[in-house]
Amino acid sequence: MAQMLDGKSVRDKIAVELTAQIAKLDQKPELVIFQIGDVAESNTYIGQKIKFGEKIGAVVTLVKLPEDISQAEVIKEVEAKNQDETVNGIIVQLPIPKTLDKEEIIQTIDPKKDVDGQNSKTLKLLMEGKDCFIPATTQGVLTLLEHYKISLAGKHAVIVGRSTLVGKPTALAFLNKDATVTIAHSKTENLKQETRNADILIVAIGKPKMITKEFVKAGQVVIDVGINVVDQSSETRDQRPEKPKLVGDVDFENVKDIVEAITPVPGGVGPMTVASLFQNLLVAYESQNS
Ligand code: NDP
Repeated sequence: MAQMLDGKSVRDKIAVELTAQIAKLDQKPELVIFQIGDVAESNTYIGQKIKFGEKIGAVVTLVKLPEDISQAEVIKEVEAKNQDETVNGIIVQLPIPKTLDKEEIIQTIDPKKDVDGQNSKTLKLLMEGKDCFIPATTQGVLTLLEHYKISLAGKHAVIVGRSTLVGKPTALAFLNKDATVTIAHSKTENLKQETRNADILIVAIGKPKMITKEFVKAGQVVIDVGINVVDQSSETRDQRPEKPKLVGDVDFENVKDIVEAITPVPGGVGPMTVASLFQNLLVAYESQNS
């Protein structure tokens, strides 16, 4: 059976380090999270961020905006937090209502406070291989691999998914670490052949258990970024309503016996994303106060 890449335990280790660093600061670093509308899954992700932030001694301010808010009002809210010197980091929890222009809102975030690395100025720095806030999920993957001493230089990384949130920044960050990178997506032909060629396979698709054992081979490291909420009653013959459960994009049960190392879902990349966000917040605090 594959080695488990345990994001929860690495997150807890990072929490201890961040708590000690924050305890020494004059002021607590503050993260502002904008939540627009009321997507149930966003509530879960935001809850995890608030819980982690409070645990390490940071301030996490949730700004809830109504679903029917205008674009101009959102921009005004973000600009006010840009100007607020007590705020060190700003994120807009995605998804946001389709009536709003996501791009314009994200571009409004001050790059100095862009702790989720989504602003195009930040992404340009990443593309150029310069110092910047690496998007939290990508940074989480890098930190997890580093923790388990899995090197990237010279390795063939195949990334399935090309979103601006996960796939593309992960490809750039891996390239910056001297991996040879292939990006696959929904139009890729012979996906199984591509994924089987990887030394390190990163999956960020959003399709429950799509990567079955036919997509992998022995010796690979598999990083499952996917978080999918599935109805448990559809998985069992038991017709009683069950609590929804989280599964990844990888068919973990069948893949884990083939590959060398794998992240579980939950408990793999998800906790690392939260920890990385707050590592970025601390970097933002330090650069704003130096
Ligand atoms: P997007 O929907 O933005 O992107 C999905 C990508 O997967 C697209 O590039 C798409 O290709 C590709 N794709 C879709 N279907 C297939 C297919 N059948 N074969 C190959 N590629 C396919 O999703 P995100 O990147 O935002 O998120 C991906 C997953 O990661 C989701 O489950 C999300 O919940 C999770 N996530 C987890 C985080 C964490 O902290 N662990 C953080 C952020 C996201 P194309 O471009 O051609 O359409």
